[in-house]
Amino acid sequence: MTLTTRLTLFFLSALGLVLTAFSITLYLLAHHHLHQQLHDRATATLATLMARAEIDPEGVEWEFKNTKQPFPRESEYHYGAVFITDGDRLEGDAELEHYRDHSISEKRGLTAELDGQSWHVVHQTITHPNPETLPESLEPNRYRSLTFVVAYPTARVETTLRTLASSLAASSLLVWLVAAFAARWVCRRALRPVTAMAGAARQFSPNQLDERLPLPAAKDELHDLAGAFNDLLTRQQHAFERQKRFTGEASHQLRTPLTAMLGQLEVALRRDRDPGEYRSALTTAKTQALRLHEIVESLLFLARADAEAHRPELQCIDLRSWLSGYLHDTWSTHARWPDIELHLPTSEAILVKVHPVLFGQALGNLLENALKFSRPGSEVVVRVESHDGTISLAVNDMGGGIAEVDQPHIFEPFYRAASARTSGTTGVGLGLAITARIVESMGGTIIWHSELGSGSRFQIELPK
Ligand code: ADP
Repeated sequence: MTLTTRLTLFFLSALGLVLTAFSITLYLLAHHHLHQQLHDRATATLATLMARAEIDPEGVEWEFKNTKQPFPRESEYHYGAVFITDGDRLEGDAELEHYRDHSISEKRGLTAELDGQSWHVVHQTITHPNPETLPESLEPNRYRSLTFVVAYPTARVETTLRTLASSLAASSLLVWLVAAFAARWVCRRALRPVTAMAGAARQFSPNQLDERLPLPAAKDELHDLAGAFNDLLTRQQHAFERQKRFTGEASHQLRTPLTAMLGQLEVALRRDRDPGEYRSALTTAKTQALRLHEIVESLLFLARADAEAHRPELQCIDLRSWLSGYLHDTWSTHARWPDIELHLPTSEAILVKVHPVLFGQALGNLLENALKFSRPGSEVVVRVESHDGTISLAVNDMGGGIAEVDQPHIFEPFYRAASARTSGTTGVGLGLAITARIVESMGGTIIWHSELGSGSRFQIELPK
């Protein structure tokens, strides 16, 4: 079932319920009011009739007036009669004989069938207040008790109610039908952009990653949805392009040492050689194999970091003593060891939670870049600072810096600035990508700043 149909059905059911409840309530109110009016008229006529009876010490007096027109008739036709209680009819319409002894509620009267018609009947009895003082045989036109009955036809009320019921049903149906057409039209119109988006999405070809959904003209929720979906497509496109570049670069980086290694081995095997020549060929092959090993290890690390989303086990270390030991053990044999300077804030212990091996790898990558991309003799400063909730460890160099065009890409795997490629600096472009993954896995961030010609600063921020 389409969304248009579902929405239309929901609103029409709700409207149907409201219209039915409204019509029924209106009908019941009119029914009550019209019947009450009829009852009031009948009671008023009954009162007029009863006013002709007089109570005196000799009994309840009733004088026969006019057989043809016994009671004052209103414009509306009705029956009226007066009976001696438990006795004969004195005056009025014989049709009411049947209702003389009926128990009829004074408040609500009685609706009954008479001559094939429906009538509203009211009656009341006047009894002498002191019947025991009356003589055994009463004087003419004197009675102990008289019963008065009046009946009004209900036909007019019924007709009015029938007309009201059919008008309500007809107008409700008309309103419902108009609403059904209008709701369907409005729903279709409102959801047209969704149909357009679905059509456009179906037309997307898997190779055309730059296609986007049409944005609806109205700036509404659907506009937002299409915009959000287009943003997602843009991110997907970028991720796909990065992936493509990554695969291309990875194959290229693996092919270069492999080709060099195969070339060396082929040349060595072409004819018999001295042991010295074999050693030299094998040494070159080993260097290339080590480079291959390094690349494959880095790729495996990146792939693992993606697949295993869980954090490595962190250990609380004193950064002050760890850093001194690490720098000495790893970098003291480096040609630029004298250029490395360590700045620590206080003499107190600086406690931080890290994975020491991974943290060493991340810091090593930053130090290696700082040393690689700066002139020998220029300072490379490792500075530790303690802030409110974080510990920062920055590596500053005074090298050539990073050009603006390269800055957005340096954390992408295999990305190397053009200057790095042309200057013949070693590296494959995986160092920063790995560093970023390591820092992220320890709950930290990397903040960095670089200016062409003035140097770079890469700062690892870790929670305390
Ligand atoms: P690699 O060092 O193997 O080239 P990285 O991922 O570590 O790869 O760095 C990516 C690129 O970022 C480098 O090729 C270089 O262009 C640039 N870069 C990184 N650190 C520095 C730095 N300290 N100074 C200048 N350029 C840098």
